[in-house]
Amino acid sequence: MTARAVMNSTGTTLEEASIEKFQASLRGEVLRPGDDGYDEARMVWNRMVDKHPALIARCTGVADVIQCVQFAREHGLLVSVRGGGHNYAGKSVCDNGLMIDLSCMKGIRVDPVRRTARAEAGLKLGEFDHETQAFGLATTLGVNTDTGIAGLTLGGGNGWLGGKFGLACDNLLAVDVVTADGRLVTANTEENTDLFWGMRGAGANLGIVTSFEYRLHPVGPVLGGMVIYPLSEARKFLRFFHEFSSTAPDQLSTIGLLLATPDGSPAVAVAACYSGPLDEAEKALKPLRTFSSPLADLIEPRSYVQMQTLFDEAWAPGRLYYNKSSNICDLSDEAIETLVEYARAMPTPLSCIYFQRLHGAASRVPESDTAFPHRYEHYVFGVHPATEEPADIEKMKRWAQECWQEMLPFVEQAVYVNALEDYLEEGDQRIREAYGPNYERLVALKTKHDPSNFFHLNQNIPPATT
Ligand SMILES: Cc1cc2nc3c(=O)[nH]c(=O)nc-3n(C[C@H](O)[C@H](O)[C@H](O)COP(=O)(O)OP(=O)(O)OC[C@H]3O[C@@H](n4cnc5c(N)ncnc54)[C@H](O)[C@@H]3O)c2cc1C
Repeated sequence: MTARAVMNSTGTTLEEASIEKFQASLRGEVLRPGDDGYDEARMVWNRMVDKHPALIARCTGVADVIQCVQFAREHGLLVSVRGGGHNYAGKSVCDNGLMIDLSCMKGIRVDPVRRTARAEAGLKLGEFDHETQAFGLATTLGVNTDTGIAGLTLGGGNGWLGGKFGLACDNLLAVDVVTADGRLVTANTEENTDLFWGMRGAGANLGIVTSFEYRLHPVGPVLGGMVIYPLSEARKFLRFFHEFSSTAPDQLSTIGLLLATPDGSPAVAVAACYSGPLDEAEKALKPLRTFSSPLADLIEPRSYVQMQTLFDEAWAPGRLYYNKSSNICDLSDEAIETLVEYARAMPTPLSCIYFQRLHGAASRVPESDTAFPHRYEHYVFGVHPATEEPADIEKMKRWAQECWQEMLPFVEQAVYVNALEDYLEEGDQRIREAYGPNYERLVALKTKHDPSNFFHLNQNIPPATT
């Protein structure tokens, strides 16, 4: 295959010599269509995303990231930034532009005495946990080991430890950021404090974070796993689950699920994790396990690293995924009725509907303390079909959209930015719902730090001047 010409946003072709000079300025590789490794590098978790960057810069460190920003600016290139590549809407890849790929930047240093970790932006959750758990430490991250720490933390980041220790962004102590004008700055509670505020919930809009410093906590082993009941019990069980998760202590985090069992039958389930003493944990989880006769009870003591792999098989990379999401506070009888109806009509056995609880410490931070605004007890509700077969795409999208539409009377006008599929489908209302009451402050911050909207392949906050 011959390399495609690299065009800038005005359609001018870049000279070969410019690209060679760019490659020479980096420690990492530059890949172009046709190069070995190009197709692998452009693929992301969701196979629905099939974009072809003109150039992929496989950055090895801060110097490469700065070079990328300067090169893209000089030549007017469209830019996307890739961390773990898990974004549903595929915002980390672009067509015909420069993908600044941080996925090779996997350095991490854990300080077990200060209980902190300095982690580069290409790390995935499983890699981060592997290093911190060597010292019996962890911080809140998501629930799928293949997710990138970068996108997750910059949008908020809830997981099994959120009730006890707050969100990933609440455990952030500092970030190193390459700004839209190609400078490296540090942001924390003393330096560049406005940027640090914005990085904790709207970070993808404001610069390229090259490394994160997190606070760590002693964690593990935990009591966790999943309990599954037949769909015939779903109405009663979801009512019970709502009561159970709404009164759960901070140490206990839950995700309600409507899913299919291995034989393809729809079922209702709860995944739960208690991080605390095992005798307390047994007591706290007992009601979930004894509600009636479960089809399966997979709850057991596990290392925290094992707990983090619970959904890895169900949400493996490389399948075709779709996701429609909103926040929901109350699981009313009418809402449950709708959900059970759609669970019966699941378009593929890989599909599910989920309710990830945000509670405890994560819900007690004042909403203006960080850019992440949804500081109240709720579930991130998502309709999440998946398949291996392209022929299923239309059917599964229709199912998800219809279910989500029918749930609209019951949900909040709020959505977790990291669960947003693609706001372009619905206009900018969803973006406002993602940033909530912090939106106007974020517009001012964006206008200050990225007035030309150089970073716009994200859940975008346009600056006031464009
Ligand atoms: C299966 C699955 C499970 C999930 N579970 C959870 C969960 O339990 N909790 C939760 O909170 N979220 C969860 N998420 C959502 C997840 O937080 C987002 O998908 C997040 O964007 C992933 O980050 P990433 O680095 O892998 O993504 P990417 O696709 O690489 O990036 C996402 C966005 O962030 C930008 N970005 C990436 N790296 C940087 C950087 N270093 N600097 C600036 N911008 C950057 C990208 O340009 C893009 O706009 C889940 C997602 C999936 C698909």
